[in-house]
Amino acid sequence: MQIFWLKRNLRLQDSEPFFESMRAFRKKEKVLPLYCHEPGLTQQPDVSRQHQLFIQETLEELDRDIQLIGGKLLQAVGETVDVLDRIHRVQPLTKIWTHQETTQNSQFRRDKAVAAWCAANGVELLELAQNGIARGSQKSELFPPYFARSVSTKLRDPMGTDLSERFAPLPFPSCDPKAIPKAAGTDKPLRQMGGRSQAIKTLNRFFTVPHLKKYPFQISSPNTAWQGCSRISTYLAYGIVSDREIFQAVDQVVIDAHSRMNADQFGKFQENARFYLDRLSWRRQYMQTFETSPELEFQCMLPQFNGVREADFSSAHSSAHSEKHFTAWKQGLTGFPYIDAAMRFLNQTGWINMRLRATVVSFATMNLWIPTTKVAEYLATEFLDYEPGIHHVIHQLIAGTTEFSELMVFDPVKQGRDQDLDGHFIRKWVPELADVPGPELHDLARTAFSLSKHAENRGYTPYPEAIVDHRATAKKAKDRVSELRRSDPDRQRASAEKSSEKKQDFQQSLF
Ligand SMILES: Cc1cc2nc3c(=O)[nH]c(=O)nc-3n(C[C@H](O)[C@H](O)[C@H](O)COP(=O)(O)OP(=O)(O)OC[C@H]3O[C@@H](n4cnc5c(N)ncnc54)[C@H](O)[C@@H]3O)c2cc1C
Repeated sequence: MQIFWLKRNLRLQDSEPFFESMRAFRKKEKVLPLYCHEPGLTQQPDVSRQHQLFIQETLEELDRDIQLIGGKLLQAVGETVDVLDRIHRVQPLTKIWTHQETTQNSQFRRDKAVAAWCAANGVELLELAQNGIARGSQKSELFPPYFARSVSTKLRDPMGTDLSERFAPLPFPSCDPKAIPKAAGTDKPLRQMGGRSQAIKTLNRFFTVPHLKKYPFQISSPNTAWQGCSRISTYLAYGIVSDREIFQAVDQVVIDAHSRMNADQFGKFQENARFYLDRLSWRRQYMQTFETSPELEFQCMLPQFNGVREADFSSAHSSAHSEKHFTAWKQGLTGFPYIDAAMRFLNQTGWINMRLRATVVSFATMNLWIPTTKVAEYLATEFLDYEPGIHHVIHQLIAGTTEFSELMVFDPVKQGRDQDLDGHFIRKWVPELADVPGPELHDLARTAFSLSKHAENRGYTPYPEAIVDHRATAKKAKDRVSELRRSDPDRQRASAEKSSEKKQDFQQSLF
């Protein structure tokens, strides 16, 4: 028997491992689609209940789709090697088909354990590349040729085909969903729903001429980004759609625009489409960086930063204080209305737009001086679209622990004023401030101790005073980071050349 192993590649459409397994089927080597709910991974600190429920919704629909083409998905509770062992004893395995993943250490260790199990049991493991990411000594292709190749690839969809003779029967029944161990945290009431049909709905909503035309002007403010961004990140992160499907959707919109616009309008429209594609190019670039340097999950890119914030965070005289700040940030009780609105909104939805992500991370790592890995780990559980390759690299850029970015600290008050001048977003998510009018919301002295009647009725306490002086802490953090960057001049000199090539790209990715 052969296995089509599903991990963060939860689709049949444009799935090379799926089609290759179907092609490789033999009468005595039929294909079993498999997903393992692994207790070891469920307990990892970057996994949360919302991720788990999103995956389960996706699997439910995937199983229905597999049944429509003649097979059945086996869902099992257990570490993958134990599940493989169990299947192998009932029905010997010959091949396992799956995607290569650029992923966090816990899942990479799982993949290595599976590779070792396959080697020990004479089973061939076929991990096919995706997202144009190069592994090991392979060289990664530049984005333009990768994009061009992707849009001219014919994407395959098995739906509507009878493949029943290629699928293996289940060697034992799928697990009872109640037996799946629960990850930490609670679900988020306003998060995106799992499943391929939701992904396609999201794709069809956004990839139209009017949406792509407005995209560059709507992504920075949380008041417009919810509708103005494509919201496709979560479906990409779990492989429910492929990057090629997104590229082809953009390409199709550009073709539509060409038939409707004059040359001048079309030229401008192409720039907007390129603006969107830039982001997909950064996605791939960050993931490639993480593929080559997976230690960035735990270590700073510049080693002189390792342990510095951690030591300050846990030092005897400031530890309680730091923990209090960290908790206030997580709960949206820092006394900075724009930050608090963002954290509370995130807590309900599992998503915030990119600029706002950068603002809350800058506040945590610079103004509050919380260790970058602690911030990244917490936000990994909060972001439904957690993509380790993007997530950990961007955190380092904002915390100033790389050689690639100019030092920047996002001023939490200025960002609020720039992106939410009238305070629509703040008032909605911080009900204590519902009575504070318009721009006064950006005056911290005015917001401290405010408590609207409405918030009081819902059991809120008065809105807190600012927990730090944001100007003083920003200056202190910048001085400290600059000093640490200077503290390793040899390395700085050696990396200057390398850095100047990449610097521009990396910095652009935050704006
Ligand atoms: C601190 C921080 C952490 C982040 N963590 C994640 C994460 O875990 N997962 C994740 O997918 N994105 C992450 N991003 C990038 C970005 O914020 C999200 O991709 C985006 O907000 C997702 O919403 P969207 O799909 O509507 O994006 P759109 O604006 O519609 O962009 C389209 C796609 O382009 C890619 N993209 C957009 N911006 C970036 C960027 N700056 N870098 C790399 N790729 C980008 C994403 O795949 C996204 O789905 C992070 C950004 C910051 C500042």
